[in-house]
Amino acid sequence: MIPDQDGQPLAPGLYLVATPIGNLEDITLRALRVLRSVDRIACEDTRQTQKLLNHFDIRTPTVSYHKHNEVGRAIELAAALRADARIAVVSDAGTPGIADPGGQIAAAAIRAGVPVFPIPGANAAISALIASGLVGTALGSSDENAEQFTFHGFLPSKEGQRRTALEALHRSTSQNRVPQLPTLGHGNDAASPHIFYEAPHRILATLADIAAIFGPAQHVVVARELTKLHEEFLRGAVSEVRKTLAARATVRGEIVLLFVPSVAESTGDTAPASIAAEVRELMQKESLAEKDALKRVARARGMAKSEAYRELQRNRSK
Ligand code: SAM
Repeated sequence: MIPDQDGQPLAPGLYLVATPIGNLEDITLRALRVLRSVDRIACEDTRQTQKLLNHFDIRTPTVSYHKHNEVGRAIELAAALRADARIAVVSDAGTPGIADPGGQIAAAAIRAGVPVFPIPGANAAISALIASGLVGTALGSSDENAEQFTFHGFLPSKEGQRRTALEALHRSTSQNRVPQLPTLGHGNDAASPHIFYEAPHRILATLADIAAIFGPAQHVVVARELTKLHEEFLRGAVSEVRKTLAARATVRGEIVLLFVPSVAESTGDTAPASIAAEVRELMQKESLAEKDALKRVARARGMAKSEAYRELQRNRSK
C-alpha cells in the first residue's frame, strides 16, 4: 500500500524529500504535496529552503537540521515522530542523505519503529552519470558489468589525503579489487565508472593528481552546473580537460567528476601504454581472449569497441 497517495491524508512518518539541484522544474508533484502537508520541514539551511518554499507558495514551518546539530536534532525529531508527527527532511539541493544530512534521522526513525518514506528526485551523481557517456553504449550494453558504478561522495579536501585516496583507487582497480574508499552506490568493478563530487577551487589540483596517478591519457568527464543555465560536460583525456579549465580565469560552479580507471599501470612520468600493450597485459594477467581484453580496454578508455579495434590495428602496423 502507498500510504500518501493524492487525495489521502498524509500518513505519520518521516519523508526524505529530494529537491532540485539547480532547475526548479526538477521537483516532483509528490514532493510539493508532501512539503505542503507535513507538520514540519527539517532543512539543512532554513534560509535556502525558504526560497524554494516561497517559489511554490508553501507555508509549512521549518526547523534547522544540519551536520552540526544532526545528532541532537535527530533525537528531538524522533520523539515528535513517535508521537505521530509527519516530518519532511530536505537538504539544500538534491537527495537528502547523499553527501548531505538525512542519514541520522532516517536511522533514528527506523530504530523508533517510525515509517520512513523516500520521495525521490534530483541527484547530481546520477544526473552526471547518465549523460557522461560512460554507461550504456560506451561500456557495451551486452556486458554484464555495464550497469555498475561506484559513488565516492567528496574526495578528501587535504592534498595528501586526496592523493592517498586516488592511489588506493588506482591500486585496487588495477588489481581488480574493491577500493578502500568509502563507497555508496553499487559495483566495484575496476572497469566501471567512479563518481566524485568536487569543489570548483580544487578541481584543477584533483585533475593533476589523476593525471599523475592514472596517466595523462586517462579519460575523464567533468559535469558542471547540471540542470542550470551554464550546464557543461567536458569529456576527454584528463590532461586536455585540465588544460581547458586552467585556461579560464576561474573555475566556477558545482562539479561532478567521473572516470573509468585506466587499466594501464601509468604514472605522469611515463608515456601512456598503447592499446596493444594493455590488451597483451590483460590477456596474460587474466587469461582473457583478445576480444574480451580489447572490450575491457575500450571501456576503461571510454572508447567504442570499433574505435579501440582500429587503434589496435594501427599499433600493430607500427
Ligand atoms: N545531496 C546532493 C545530491 O543529491 O546530489 C549532493 C549534495 S553535496 C553537499 C553538493 C555537491 O554535489 C556539490 O559540491 C557538487 O559536487 C555536487 N552537485 C550538486 N549540485 C550540482 C550541480 N547542479 N551540478 C554539478 N554538481 C552538483
